[in-house]
Amino acid sequence: STIASQAMLRMQPSATIAFTERARALKQSGRDVVFLTVGEPDLDTPQNIRNAAIEAIHRGETRYPPTAGIAPLRAAIVEKFRRDNNMDVTTRETIVAPGGKNIIFNAFAATLDAGDEVIIPAPYWVSYPDLVAFPGGVPVIVQTRREDGYKLTPAQLEASITPRTKWLVLNSPSNPTGSAYTADELRALAEVLDDHPHVWAMSDDLYEHMLYDDFRFATLAEVAPSLASRTLTVNGVSKAYAMTGWRVGYAAGPTDLIAQIEKLTGQQTTGTCTIAQWAALEALTGPQDFLTTSRALFAERRDLVLDLLGRTDRLECDRPEGAFYVFPSCARTVGLTTPKGRAIGNDLAFAEALLEEADVAIVPGSSFGSEGAFRLSYAASTETLVTACNRIVEFCESLR
Ligand code: PLP
Repeated sequence: STIASQAMLRMQPSATIAFTERARALKQSGRDVVFLTVGEPDLDTPQNIRNAAIEAIHRGETRYPPTAGIAPLRAAIVEKFRRDNNMDVTTRETIVAPGGKNIIFNAFAATLDAGDEVIIPAPYWVSYPDLVAFPGGVPVIVQTRREDGYKLTPAQLEASITPRTKWLVLNSPSNPTGSAYTADELRALAEVLDDHPHVWAMSDDLYEHMLYDDFRFATLAEVAPSLASRTLTVNGVSKAYAMTGWRVGYAAGPTDLIAQIEKLTGQQTTGTCTIAQWAALEALTGPQDFLTTSRALFAERRDLVLDLLGRTDRLECDRPEGAFYVFPSCARTVGLTTPKGRAIGNDLAFAEALLEEADVAIVPGSSFGSEGAFRLSYAASTETLVTACNRIVEFCESLR
């Protein structure tokens, strides 16, 4: 017996949080645990953005916000989509919310009836299946392949569409793999969707600015204008401007969908913290050099991690295009035994043994719906990354 509703019982606590809690408990017991589990930049919000918030407070911008966002921020979002994504949207086609996650939750809650299906390519961001299940939707998990760069193929998409399909979720660059879709790859998926007008697309672009080696970002509504009338493009300031704690996300989509999300927001959060919105306005309209410097920093760290992990044949790590994660396969360690006698039966056992015997916390791939691999976040200092990767390599080499 529980107080929880059926809807709550369909929802799991975040798997990444559960694993991090275990690692944190070990650390509290005195162990020198290194964490490569975090999903946020380890950088401070740029000073100009912080100042904008302080000035907003001093000006008295402390009242309830308009539900869909303050006018200057919505105007800046229109301009951002034009400037960065060649998308032509009106103010009424935009919305601001307390985080991209809130928009995704509300978009599903506002559109899914019991039994409606949502196609989610795996490995996926941990929250999607739970956010779909809450209002009664059915997550349809499609396993992507490592040899396809962990990207959904047009054939896989075609095969997973049914009359009940409501949404396809795309996340590029991806959490957890760092993979990103090229414009051509998106166009090929869009061609499939063109034949299925009942399917909507959600493009989760939170990691848009974290792309390396001159990889050019593309988003579905940009490359396939024919789909714009059924695409929700979700973005936010959390990752790009190191603003995870400010809770500001935004989206662009057709007015009917935006109106439904706005209606739900009005009964739920009332809108987004007014002060944080003024800070987000500065993020989108102020100097953009932070994006360049953080991109260079993350690219350097990605290369460092790939170099270090490359020293053991027991991991196979591809070079992801973006985000701040690598997703190495640990399949070759399965069947081996640790020096202390732990059997590595799968990625979860690998992660547990790595934590217990080498004091490194990463997140097993099965948390993201894909076994045999793990997510390592390189949103950490060089020193931390070197220590952790050396321990991982030593651990892998010690397996018999
Ligand atoms: N989408 C992805 C893929 C993410 O990794 C995250 C954050 O971890 C979000 C969306 C939500 O970001 P926020 O709610 O901070 O805007």
